[in-house]
Amino acid sequence: MKIIVLGGGVIGVTTAWFLSRDGHDVTVIDREEAVADGTSFANAGLLSPGHAFAWARPGVPATLLRSFWRDDTGLRLRPRLDPDMWSWGLKFLAQCTHGRARVNSLRKLRISAYSQDVLHDLIADTGIAFDPDRGGILYLHRDAAALDRGIAEMRLLVDEGVRMEVLDAQGCARVEPALAHLGASIAGAVYCPDDEHGDCNKFTRALGDLAAGAGVTFQFNTTIQEIEADGASVARVRTDKGNFTADAYVMALGPQSPLVARGLGVKLPIYPVKGYSMTFPVTSSHQGPIGSGVDEGLLMAWSRLGDRLRLTSTAEIAGYDLSRPPAQYAAMRRAAEALFPGGADFDHGEVWCGLRPLTPEGTPIFGRGRHENLWFNTGHGSMGWTMACGSARVTADLIAGRDAGIDLTGMVLTE
Ligand SMILES: Cc1cc2nc3c(=O)[nH]c(=O)nc-3n(C[C@H](O)[C@H](O)[C@H](O)COP(=O)(O)OP(=O)(O)OC[C@H]3O[C@@H](n4cnc5c(N)ncnc54)[C@H](O)[C@@H]3O)c2cc1C
Repeated sequence: MKIIVLGGGVIGVTTAWFLSRDGHDVTVIDREEAVADGTSFANAGLLSPGHAFAWARPGVPATLLRSFWRDDTGLRLRPRLDPDMWSWGLKFLAQCTHGRARVNSLRKLRISAYSQDVLHDLIADTGIAFDPDRGGILYLHRDAAALDRGIAEMRLLVDEGVRMEVLDAQGCARVEPALAHLGASIAGAVYCPDDEHGDCNKFTRALGDLAAGAGVTFQFNTTIQEIEADGASVARVRTDKGNFTADAYVMALGPQSPLVARGLGVKLPIYPVKGYSMTFPVTSSHQGPIGSGVDEGLLMAWSRLGDRLRLTSTAEIAGYDLSRPPAQYAAMRRAAEALFPGGADFDHGEVWCGLRPLTPEGTPIFGRGRHENLWFNTGHGSMGWTMACGSARVTADLIAGRDAGIDLTGMVLTE
């Protein structure tokens, strides 16, 4: 079958890879000049089933409200006259109950854990290089009460098989020597030894090269303007470089998916949630961290990616704004230096920001809507890198009419 994948982020490229392995003739269309130039460009790199908690949960509405007058919250709402923001926001608020948070977290865990297995198989098959590290992830807590809450919250995932160790400050320093200087100023950490990290951008580019070598066509610098339907089928994709046709289409446009789907009359419950990252060089003269983690107090993630240290922070609901306020990065730099003094060349940080394509539930959207040849693989929110390989495998299986391998309840588009 001839299949066009719309979008060349980590989701589109992994999808193209598995479709090509199934023998399909695949073309990926992206408006950028290379793969992974959107949200997949410089994320935290965490592959973290151990952190598969839904973002919509009790307590979050109060944090969002506080963010109206405070700038120091990790989660912020910047209200706009945007009907999409408000209709999505109401759906998000409806998910902020204990019951919904539990269901959504378990679904996130299901696709994340499956994805980790698929990723490991892909690594074994291809030997793909992406600065991977399988040393686990530390979820750091500053005070005893927060650590207790973190441990209690983890029970949900532990009951489903996620391995967890509780570490005190000394234990943290054993796993991550660069944290030793914090001493008793941290209470400890939840450590998930099976979580891992790696460079999403490097992975996507390397897999894109492998896919191109296997016959996948990449149509870059091509902006999709509209998807045109003929009754219950998609007939063509209209772009600034002309029309493209195929037997089937997969939408993997990340945060732009709802904007393009709207032209077809399909309303995807996805809204962009902005996050920031900084990447610092690490040389032999630095005592940088060796692994990855999340400072749960600051809601800041870090990961060592070869000779670089990546930090990310903030979830800002502010529409499609991609501005890079200097004050945001100055605060991140200060926090990074305090966490890892002498750990990197903090004078030469590269700044970036991206938009997480978040559904109210936090789970991705698979399956088809009203058009029998248009498949969705989108809406992976804060965990698209973690969920990518599994989501791509699921999509290839659905298109082939095979069993998807996991229970997709709550993750299939309903129109
Ligand atoms: C700060 C931050 C930290 C994160 N950390 C993590 C993490 O540690 N672990 C994790 O699992 N996830 C993380 N994420 C989430 C993860 O990065 C995303 O879920 C994932 O990258 C989404 O991939 P995607 O392919 O769906 O979207 P994208 O990477 O945005 O890909 C969509 C592609 O579609 C293209 N496109 C869009 N519109 C058009 C158009 N009209 N025509 C043509 N092409 C178009 C874009 O150019 C883009 O290449 C983080 C995100 C952020 C912002």
